[in-house]
Amino acid sequence: MTASLPLLIVKDIHKTYPGSQTWFKRRAETKAVMGVSFTLAAGETLGLVGESGCGKSTLSAILMGLIQPDQGQVMFDARNITDRNRRRDLELCRQMQIVFQDPYGSLNRRMTVKDIIAEPLKIHGLLKRAGQDGQISDLMEQVGLSPDLVNTYPAQLSGGQRQRVGIARALALSPRLLILDEPVSALDVSIQAQILNLLKKLQREQNMAYLFISHDLRVVRYMAPRIAVMYQGQIVETGDREQIFTAARHAYTRRLIAAIPRERYG
Ligand code: ADP
Ligand code: MG
Repeated sequence: MTASLPLLIVKDIHKTYPGSQTWFKRRAETKAVMGVSFTLAAGETLGLVGESGCGKSTLSAILMGLIQPDQGQVMFDARNITDRNRRRDLELCRQMQIVFQDPYGSLNRRMTVKDIIAEPLKIHGLLKRAGQDGQISDLMEQVGLSPDLVNTYPAQLSGGQRQRVGIARALALSPRLLILDEPVSALDVSIQAQILNLLKKLQREQNMAYLFISHDLRVVRYMAPRIAVMYQGQIVETGDREQIFTAARHAYTRRLIAAIPRERYG
């Protein structure tokens, strides 16, 4: 562990999806990420905002090691984890977790809440042989889910409850970095605030770093003291929340701010 380095260092990441051609349709290649760099300190929240298609999820998938960048480096805890040929080790997987936008798409519908939350613990050999029911119900309580729901299936839950299950699953391994890729974008506005406040509470309690990704600048402003603005595959501006809102340098940032309904900011 190196106290002086940021927890996450992202350096000059590039990713192009190749084009494809079938006999009836040709798809051009897509430059999804073009030279993205940023750092994230332990326990910090960085907001990443930008319109749909600007490359946010490609970047988060690269950080998680789900896809490989064409170029660039990812350092986690002073270790280069941009390994193009090897699978990540279990310890690294434990320390970086992700919560996706659509909990219904990312949770296994045939598994009960209990099994969904227990799965990462099982994989990592951290599920207690005795007392595992307590382990699961503790996690459920931390995310505000009644332990009575332990034997239900995702289809029986509301959207907000499903996202709480996704968060409990990510928390189970006590990660140091949580990547939140549009975690409230699929939820009703009234439920969004509950989930955002839950995420804030968990961060205070557990001192995790958050990379909080959203297309919605209001949500990012609420969550992140420091904000990076992404536009067409690049980070065009990074700054403190106040600076972004009062003295944005890039025209795209100013457009995002102008698009926020008046009564909701200022
Ligand atoms: P965001 O999360 O900001 O909406 P994405 O990273 O999902 O952006 O997408 C960035 C660009 O890459 C988009 O133009 C999208 O259509 C394209 N893209 C994403 N995934 C793939 C893929 N697997 N194959 C080809 N193009 C892709
Ligand atoms: Mg996305």
